[in-house]
Amino acid sequence: MNGRYLRHGEAAVHVEDRGLQLGDSIYEVCRVEAGGLLDEAGHLDRLERSLAALELPMPMAREPLRLVMRELIRRNRIRDGIVYLQITRGPFRRDHPMPEGAAKPTLILTARAYDRAAAMARMASGVKIIARPDERWARRDIKTTQLLPAVLAKTAAKRAGANEAWLVDDDGFVTEGGSTNAWIVDAKGTLVTRPLSRDILPGVTRAVVLAAARDAQMTVEERKFTVAEALAAREAFLTSASGAAVPVVAIDGAAMGDGRPGPLTLRLQALYAAKSGGGGD
Ligand code: PLP
Repeated sequence: MNGRYLRHGEAAVHVEDRGLQLGDSIYEVCRVEAGGLLDEAGHLDRLERSLAALELPMPMAREPLRLVMRELIRRNRIRDGIVYLQITRGPFRRDHPMPEGAAKPTLILTARAYDRAAAMARMASGVKIIARPDERWARRDIKTTQLLPAVLAKTAAKRAGANEAWLVDDDGFVTEGGSTNAWIVDAKGTLVTRPLSRDILPGVTRAVVLAAARDAQMTVEERKFTVAEALAAREAFLTSASGAAVPVVAIDGAAMGDGRPGPLTLRLQALYAAKSGGGGD
C-alpha cells in the first residue's frame, strides 16, 4: 500500500479518501495460476486506460508495479489466486470536483489464494444465472469501484441459488454479467458476444477468448443478444479473469440444452489455457 508491504489487518485508508467517500477510484483483478500472472499486459493496459478516463495519475511506473505484483505473490505464497489492485484519487477535504494541485493517489494491492478445486469444478459442471435489469451508469467501459448495481444484482443471484446475474438493457439485450462478460453459441453454432462500447467492460479474458476462437476458425459475431435468444441457444458461458469460458447451465431456472456444459465452451476453455500465458516467472 502506497509503497509499503503491510500486514493485511494493518493496511487502512484515510477517512477522507475519495475512493471511500465518492467512489473516485478504479481497480483491476489479475489471476495468478501456478505462481504466474495471467494476461498481465492486458490488465495493465486497461488499468492505464481507466486511469486516463478519470484523469487519475499512475502512482508508479509500470515496470516497478509489475515487480511489486510479483513480490506480493511471493510474500503471500500464492500459487493459485488473484492479485487485486486499486487506485483512488486519495485523501482530500470532501468536495465533488477533482482537487486541483498536486496529485496524491492511494495505491492498494492485495493478493489472495483461491480454492483451485472449486474453480475447476465450476468450469466442469457449469453455473446457474439469473437475468436482472442493468441499473448501472453509462460508462461501464471504465473499471471503477462504483459497484453497487453489481452488488445488488449478484446478491439477488446468490439468493436465487445462482452464481451470476446477466444484466439486461432497456431494449431487452444482455449487456454482460455483474462481474463477467456474456456469451452464447447460437442456434447456427455461431459464437456471439456483445460488441465493445460504453455499455460493457472490455474484458481482458473476452479479448483473449475472442482471439483464440478466431484463430481456431470458429464463426464469431460481435452482436447483441436477448435472454430469449440465450435460452434458445446451444450453449452459453461467462468470461472473466477468475474463469475463462465458465459454462452456463441454467438461466432463470430453465436448463440450457441438456443442462451440461457444451462442446464449444469446453473447447474454448482448452484454447484459453493454451493462449493466456500462465505459469510462474
Ligand atoms: N464485466 C464486468 C462488469 C466485470 O466486472 C468484469 C471483471 O471484473 C468482467 C466483465 C470481466 O473482465 P476480465 O475478463 O478482464 O476479468
